[in-house]
Amino acid sequence: MMLTAVFDTKPYDRDYLAAAAAGRPLQLVFHESRLTADTARLADGMAAVCAFVNDRLDRPCLATLAAGGVRHVAMRCAGFNNVDLAAARELGLAVTRVPAYSPYAVAEHTAALVLALNRRIHRAFNRVREQNFSLAGLVGFDLHGKTCGIVGTGKIGRVAAEIFRGFGMRVVAYDPMPQPEWALQRGVEYLSFDDVLAASDILSLHLPLTPETHHLIDATTVARLKPGAIIVNTSRGKLIDTTAVIDALKQGQLGGLAIDVYEEEEGLFFEDLSDTVLQDDEFSRLLVFPNVLITAHQAFLTREALGEIARVTVDNLVRGSRGEPFLPDTLL
Ligand code: NAD
Repeated sequence: MMLTAVFDTKPYDRDYLAAAAAGRPLQLVFHESRLTADTARLADGMAAVCAFVNDRLDRPCLATLAAGGVRHVAMRCAGFNNVDLAAARELGLAVTRVPAYSPYAVAEHTAALVLALNRRIHRAFNRVREQNFSLAGLVGFDLHGKTCGIVGTGKIGRVAAEIFRGFGMRVVAYDPMPQPEWALQRGVEYLSFDDVLAASDILSLHLPLTPETHHLIDATTVARLKPGAIIVNTSRGKLIDTTAVIDALKQGQLGGLAIDVYEEEEGLFFEDLSDTVLQDDEFSRLLVFPNVLITAHQAFLTREALGEIARVTVDNLVRGSRGEPFLPDTLL
């Protein structure tokens, strides 16, 4: 039986991973704690670890894992900005991920955020529960005929673009690696990044976080947006400079913000902190805007996505333990 320490697990992770591992030569040891340099010793004696988006796999963490005998790091997510890949290579650790599990899960959540924010569903829900049936302040706009800008037309961005086309929107896009045939087929127009900013009523981010894309949305780029535009981000929090968007929301330059990811979400999202005093002043400020809607990194959370994440992760763990090649496109 190959031993794997699985970090940052919640009941839904454990359910799906345990089901996928049933009958396989794999013993999963579940931990609730996040994987960091401080918790890496929990994996001593294990052949592999399985980690998630807010674990911090920096060099000290990876060095402790390697010293404890770990040879394989299986990320049960698509993004890998939290893994020091150069350090992993030097330490002889194989790092795999789940590059695509359900682009529909994330793209559909993006659409849910846009619809909820634009039509004030989050506010209406609370009002109706308090028998406040007033409609003042709940005016939205038709998506039909408006322009949606998609930044990053990879797997998720393309599905999101198709959904927004389905609402009758004009969809414009920017990607340094465009997909011209797909765009032609789906009636999507590629523009420069600046032109996408200027044209969009809704700007939706679907690109990875890299040193180049860190704070892609900052004071300069937000100023180039169409006044009153809405930004939706289901990719990675650090794509957005929170201070800049708070200023833009206060000035009305930004008409709304819907986010499933937050710059400083590590240690915040996925936890029940309802009994604690929130220390993050910028997050607290975001919570009180009527035109900001936040979900806590749940865009991936569908049965289909969890099932596929578990299937690919378990398969790769078994392959790794047997010295077999990993599933295509999963090795980083
Ligand atoms: P993908 O690799 O299929 O596509 C990313 C696209 O971004 C590529 O086409 C790439 O060329 C493009 N890109 C790179 N740099 C760019 C730039 N500077 N400007 C514009 N485009 C750029 O990835 P995907 O599967 O579509 O996922 C997109 C992102 O969604 C992931 O990186 C991940 O961070 C995020 N994600 C979030 C969740 C969630 O639960 N919220 C779940 C899965 C993925």
